[in-house]
Amino acid sequence: MASNSSGGIWSGVASLDRKRLGSSVSPLRSVLPEAFPTEASDFRVLIPRLGSSLLPGGDQRCRWRRKRALASHGASWLNLLTTIEMDDSPGDPQEAGVATLNRREFLKASGAASLSRLWPRGPFASPAIRRVRPSDPSWPSKEAWKRLNEAVGGNLIQVDFPINLCTSSFQSADCKTVFANLKNPYYIGDNPGITQTLGWVDAWAAKPSVYGVAARNADDIAAAVDFARENNLRLVVKGGGHSYQGTSNAPDSLLIWTRHMHDVTIQHDFVARGCKSPQAPQRAVTVGSGTIWLQAYDAVTTKAGGYVQGGGCTTVGVAGLIQSGGFGSFSKHYGMAAAGLLEAEVVTADGKVRIANACTNSDLFWALKGGGGGTFGAISKLTLRVRDLPELAGGANFIVKASSDDAYRRLIRHFVGFYREALFNDHWGEQAHFSPDNKLGISMVHLGLDTEQSRGVWQPFLNWLAQSSTAYTIESQPEIGSMPARHWWDLDWRKEHHHDVFKADSRSSASPINVWWNGDAGQVGWVVWGFESLWMPASLLQDDSQEKLANALFSASRFSEVELHFNKGLAGSPSEAIEAARDTAMNPSVCGAFALAIVADGQGPAYPGIPNHEPDVAKGRKAAATVRRCMNELRAVASNGGAYLSESNFFESDFEHSYWGTNHARLAQIKKKYDPDGLFFVHNGVGSEQWTPDGFTRL
Ligand SMILES: Cc1cc2nc3c(=O)[nH]c(=O)nc-3n(C[C@H](O)[C@H](O)[C@H](O)COP(=O)(O)OP(=O)(O)OC[C@H]3O[C@@H](n4cnc5c(N)ncnc54)[C@H](O)[C@@H]3O)c2cc1C
Repeated sequence: MASNSSGGIWSGVASLDRKRLGSSVSPLRSVLPEAFPTEASDFRVLIPRLGSSLLPGGDQRCRWRRKRALASHGASWLNLLTTIEMDDSPGDPQEAGVATLNRREFLKASGAASLSRLWPRGPFASPAIRRVRPSDPSWPSKEAWKRLNEAVGGNLIQVDFPINLCTSSFQSADCKTVFANLKNPYYIGDNPGITQTLGWVDAWAAKPSVYGVAARNADDIAAAVDFARENNLRLVVKGGGHSYQGTSNAPDSLLIWTRHMHDVTIQHDFVARGCKSPQAPQRAVTVGSGTIWLQAYDAVTTKAGGYVQGGGCTTVGVAGLIQSGGFGSFSKHYGMAAAGLLEAEVVTADGKVRIANACTNSDLFWALKGGGGGTFGAISKLTLRVRDLPELAGGANFIVKASSDDAYRRLIRHFVGFYREALFNDHWGEQAHFSPDNKLGISMVHLGLDTEQSRGVWQPFLNWLAQSSTAYTIESQPEIGSMPARHWWDLDWRKEHHHDVFKADSRSSASPINVWWNGDAGQVGWVVWGFESLWMPASLLQDDSQEKLANALFSASRFSEVELHFNKGLAGSPSEAIEAARDTAMNPSVCGAFALAIVADGQGPAYPGIPNHEPDVAKGRKAAATVRRCMNELRAVASNGGAYLSESNFFESDFEHSYWGTNHARLAQIKKKYDPDGLFFVHNGVGSEQWTPDGFTRL
């Protein structure tokens, strides 16, 4: 917790002292936990997942409870459709082909195996498609799996589910180790059967695929796509595994797992392929689709001094984030991550490896920029724009508590005006939090300001607080300052300067750059109870609307903690960033929003059926209802805002409009063109309405 204790994390910067805040400001006290909680603890901490760099250890409203979660995933009624029970298990791919012929294999041997290859496309386009499960007669034979294994150079894997180690005994050492590891995002990422979010009460729980292709390149991906299409399998793609909606896991499926495809290459004169008119070469970075953002930042920023727009969380996958739009701490300046996509190599449902850029397959290219992951194809490579990095970046962190509801109303009202005047520009991103205990948490980042400038920006606000010192208590010492931007993700530099901002992967085999922000720790292996987001239009910042906005924030904060993520709304960004965002598939609301409001709740690692580690369904449902009521207060002033598909409600109503607004119709056309038979299915993805919730049966 160095950032909240001895003088701040900013290089050579002392924290603001009490004199500058006024003499009657209360003694400084950190409200953030010293360490991640033990399993027995139950806590709520301010500032979830924020400018994680700025609030070491201070993340997430995690609650650790153990009760049973519903995890239907649509499976209960689908089982009714499975009329033929088969006795054979999928088998080990390495042993495939050596077992005796069973009923399923007999069907295959007698010609049914190749049936799907011979079918014209017509039948697949009919509404009668039902993907096969291991219990179905047409599930591929061991011979067929063996052929796939050979085609992918021996990289077909049986997908293990580590939590199974707990089914025999939840008290075993193995089970304890698994649950300890479920707090390490790199352990989770290295296990193809589990996901960074383990589930969502009443929505889904992580389930492993039967087999996975641990892909090395586009050819491996194409082999998996062909195999899934030809054998009518449910296909799923996983990169970083951070989907809140559970879209990178599905039981009874074939997984394309890109984890090992993480080459990162800086290109000094990239030119998109296939353009008729000459394009100016530009600096870019090409990454394998299994790359996570820290790997990209390490190469582009720490090693090369440039900037690539990605996500805030270091362990999120590049491919998943780009396809969902993507915002990082500095998006208010650089814009959406998807807008920085220059080219993708993507395997479409027909098994073709295609290049998609502004000149070649430009419709597909546009859809990949925010149209949703796992929907239009499986990406093998992405090339992203590299930008110049200013010399300095930094932030402002503190928490103020108001002494009464009235004082809190005034505080929110004053902050709204202050934000509009001083912070509504491309220097300032990340978050402000408004909570039921009348606290305002500031955890913002800035780009391109030095320490004096950034402190100067906040001084009027701090002066205002000091003038009303009986009404407001500063609960954590303001830390406002700057550091060299190039070292933002530089683990060694942060260590050297005592910035205790990262947690590290302690496994002996871990790469030294396997770190994650303290601020993201609460979401590792978590189970979601409720999660909603809403873009807040910048019109609410106008003089005659500020009161309305402040009142809505106050009313919402009576229910739950509201986070305003300023970097996830592009109003206030440079026009270039807004124009680039308009050329993506995202809901155009993002361009006119000053912030994305997020309200969320959940608990630490849990899984249904594992005693002592069960999701707390009762609490979860209550929390979901509270999240909804809280968000409804904001919807009252931003009814048509739309939601950010990556960070939104599993049960989002009218998701097509919420996620993509007027862009949905075009996305639906592109989906039809590149994947007419719906091989790529994800929950609430484009075209998903044509399928049962589990993606197995076409409606
Ligand atoms: C802790 C945490 C922090 C987050 N922080 C941020 C943030 O700062 N900013 C932000 O914008 N979002 C954030 N998100 C949301 C995140 O960006 C999305 O969930 C994103 O889709 C995750 O991508 P992934 O590759 O890690 O996840 P995955 O679950 O692997 O993939 C997400 C989706 O993309 C698909 N996909 C993955 N790889 C490919 C591929 N190669 N080809 C085709 N489809 C693919 C998957 O099938 C799935 O549908 C956060 C999420 C979490 C859990």
